[in-house]
Amino acid sequence: MISIIAPCFNEEEVLPQFYDEVTKVMNRTRYDYEIIFINDGSRDRTLEILRDLSKGDKKVNYISFSRNFGKEGAMLAGLNFSKGDAVIIMDTDLQHPPELIPEMISYFEKGYDQVIAKRNRKGESFFRAFVSKIYYKCINQFVDITLADGVGDFRLLSRQAVNALLSLNEYNRFSKGLFSWIGFKEHMIEFENVNRTAGISKWSFLKLLNYAIDGLVSFNNKPLRIAIYMGLTVTLLDILYVLFMFIKTLLNGPDVPGYFTIIASVSLFGGIQLIFLGLIGEYIGRIYYESKKRPHYIVEEESFTQKSEERQDK
Ligand code: UDP
Ligand code: MG
Repeated sequence: MISIIAPCFNEEEVLPQFYDEVTKVMNRTRYDYEIIFINDGSRDRTLEILRDLSKGDKKVNYISFSRNFGKEGAMLAGLNFSKGDAVIIMDTDLQHPPELIPEMISYFEKGYDQVIAKRNRKGESFFRAFVSKIYYKCINQFVDITLADGVGDFRLLSRQAVNALLSLNEYNRFSKGLFSWIGFKEHMIEFENVNRTAGISKWSFLKLLNYAIDGLVSFNNKPLRIAIYMGLTVTLLDILYVLFMFIKTLLNGPDVPGYFTIIASVSLFGGIQLIFLGLIGEYIGRIYYESKKRPHYIVEEESFTQKSEERQDK
């Protein structure tokens, strides 16, 4: 059995079309399947549509959160509820073409635990593509795992890989990194970038920036290391400078000018300290969140129990 996991946040315009296309594709495969929609606190008619879909098709279930918890929480909920031997995570905005599913399954049959669909960046705004490119160049210098450009959450995972993911219960989830961290045999397939058919992207520039920082600090402590190295270098240079000035003053007597150097160095080091204090704060913040052990999401309503009760009634 294959489980399709589809997080949705205000996707009323595309949901019915998504359901139709996925159903069509899945019926062509020789697998039994389930579609699990996760309503991530949508404010439009998404939940009503999901209720209807789930009522009309026993293969469709939904989980509805009490508010918007973000796509990471939605994917996690989907993985938690999924029962399939393989799980496919896909966006509901049809940017992840369902036609790719049979190909993904064929690689699963060949024994791959992760089949990753990578998109190119055709048709994307030049700015976003450019920033992404630079980001991936930089981040791979830092983190302990490899993150690839254009690789998103659209992928097939074997049950074994899903269980591995579920065993990671950190609060700050950065799935792109987690997928790579768990390892297993991977295969990559490529697809043309599709622009959204309806609705708008939920990623503002600020959200993307925050996501980028998450990626950087979720996976290593190298930024902290750099802070230590820089601190040591700066202190060493400072000692040399003081010694040099001390000897010079002893030999030549004091000369007063030097106002500029003082201001310059104070402000420079003040700046550097602020940057790294911020970084350290970032890690402490993470420890704070992790130590609370809050759930990643809260389910307000779901169709699984309703359906099993109906089955018992019959
Ligand atoms: N999504 C979600 N919660 C959020 C934001 C997005 O579940 O807080 C879902 C959204 O409905 C879509 C997928 O995640 O199915 C990707 O979102 P979007 O299309 O906005 O991102 P983009 O394709 O621009 O990266
Ligand atoms: Mg999208």
